[in-house]
Amino acid sequence: MLLLIPGPVQTRPEVKAAMAQDIAPWDRDFQAVYARIRDRIVGVAGGTPGVHATLPLQGAGHFVSEAALRTFVAPGAKVLIPMNGAYAQRMARLAREAGRVVVELKLPDTRGATAADIMPALEADPAIGTVAMVFNETGSGIVNDANGIGRALHAAGKRLVLDAVSAFGVLPFPLAEHPECDVLVFTSGKCLEGMPGIGFAVARIDRAEACAGQAGSWSLDLSDVLAHAKRSGWGSIRFTPPVQAIAAFDVALDLYEAEGGQPARRARYQANADILYDGIVGLGLTPYLAREHQGPVIVTVHQPADPRFDLMTFVDALKRRGVLISNFYNTAAPTMRIGAIGAITPDDMRRAVAAIGTALDDVLAKAA
Ligand SMILES: *Cc1c(COP(=O)(O)O)cnc(C)c1O
Repeated sequence: MLLLIPGPVQTRPEVKAAMAQDIAPWDRDFQAVYARIRDRIVGVAGGTPGVHATLPLQGAGHFVSEAALRTFVAPGAKVLIPMNGAYAQRMARLAREAGRVVVELKLPDTRGATAADIMPALEADPAIGTVAMVFNETGSGIVNDANGIGRALHAAGKRLVLDAVSAFGVLPFPLAEHPECDVLVFTSGKCLEGMPGIGFAVARIDRAEACAGQAGSWSLDLSDVLAHAKRSGWGSIRFTPPVQAIAAFDVALDLYEAEGGQPARRARYQANADILYDGIVGLGLTPYLAREHQGPVIVTVHQPADPRFDLMTFVDALKRRGVLISNFYNTAAPTMRIGAIGAITPDDMRRAVAAIGTALDDVLAKAA
């Protein structure tokens, strides 16, 4: 089965094979792997050793996103969130339910947000100290200009919390050039092509220390993850981690480096997304985004206006042809959501486009 979803993604056999072992989290050999992964991630993030630290957290991306918001935004403090997609909405809910005051900035979900969108809202309300935002909006496929917004925030003396879950490893955001960024978060199962199960925050050590004690949750306190590492070592773990997923992630990082790191992975995903976008247009379907707003991670496509079309039936027909796409959408208009990420090559994507065409014919003919 070819998984064309925005995570957990298709993985390579070597990554899956690394799971086939029993592991004790406190074993010294494993702790060395864990500590090494943390160092490697600071490198991928373009961070500075001694300034930035990797703070892993068990669970899905939402857990580490919530932890980042709780740790770096004080209870009752205002945080601005550019609202232009499903994951921005999720961030807003996480922050609100944690008792942070969310200021929503409504923006269209068909183009990325820029500093020109954000800064007037900050000027209008000087009590807002932090912007929390999604880098690649996985709901639609747009890319928010995290680098430009980050630079503007730095100039304005504001802080940034970045959800880079579906961008990390592919869309560069070099932390060493972004002192305004308290933390970015991502997960093991997206662009680095590991197994799902663990979230990672890459945070400024000084800020994590300055923010100690305000998370209001022990398990979701990234300052405590840092304090524990400083006390007990970078290979130590507070609570039982998904050890097999971590072992597999080390192999996934090897493969990432062997491929050529960020530029190479981005080029492969971009090629996948281009083939998909062109293929969709070739089949007479309409992409949700104009080409200039289309990112390399996810391509959303308008569902055919044909009344015979049904998303579930189509997804099943495509699955019978060996290709799996999301069976739900979260854009304003009804769409289909197709991932360009994971251990997928341009040839795979060409096969997928052909399968989409025949599955579509099948569904529309059968319903006729
Ligand atoms: C996948 C994703 C998340 C986290 O999703 P989980 O299902 O909790 O792992 C958060 N933000 C973005 C932008 C994502 O793509």
